[in-house]
Amino acid sequence: MIKDNLEIVKEKIAKACQKAKRDVDTVTLIAVSKTKPVAMLKECYDAGIRDFGENKVQEILDKYDQMPSDVRWHMIGHLQRNKVKYIIDKVVMIHSVDSLRLAEEISKQAMRVNRVMDILIEVNIASEESKFGVSEMMLPDFVKEVCKLPGVCVKGLMTVAPYVDNSEENRQHFVKMRQLCVDINAQNIDNENINMLSMGMSGDYTVAIEEGATHVRVGTSIFGERNYLI
Ligand SMILES: *Cc1c(COP(=O)(O)O)cnc(C)c1O
Repeated sequence: MIKDNLEIVKEKIAKACQKAKRDVDTVTLIAVSKTKPVAMLKECYDAGIRDFGENKVQEILDKYDQMPSDVRWHMIGHLQRNKVKYIIDKVVMIHSVDSLRLAEEISKQAMRVNRVMDILIEVNIASEESKFGVSEMMLPDFVKEVCKLPGVCVKGLMTVAPYVDNSEENRQHFVKMRQLCVDINAQNIDNENINMLSMGMSGDYTVAIEEGATHVRVGTSIFGERNYLI
């Protein structure tokens, strides 16, 4: 089942790339495996997926040792500062950096283990009350401050777009995200090249790719609906 789902997702990614005249290699598919058992992750791994996204520290820790060592773990959920130390040597990128204090803690812990952590800045692109993320207005100064930290490298921006019935409604937000990236690069902060865009989920990843997503985070379309009661 997972293998078939993956085929469909990959085909849609390829079509979206074709439509946008982009090379399919410029899009990384992150399989969002939160709440799903390791057996399902292994099925996904066997079908060729190496990038997995989780939103809870404990779940990464539980699954980390049970999965092959070439898995690239992405932290995509809200992260508490006191938990950074547990995943600092386990994830390849933290997508959900939305406060300077969190960025400082990531930098500190990364230095402690002699690495520089790749991070994305989460943007609350539709100014939703319920969402985490830096506001569009605060973003330029925020990026400037975070780029000063020695233990992190700002690679780009991430957003969780509104839940909509018609994915076209989110196109405007994805366009704005790409423009924010362009604007930040025009500031030329520390020569850092901010060119990753983590946006698009099961409901809207093709639209996100058409508008420049480099990382799509797809859960339900690969693993099926999540059952939080289990
Ligand atoms: C759960 C989650 C996803 C995947 O959502 P689906 O709609 O199941 O594809 C993507 N990004 C984040 C941050 C998530 O928490």
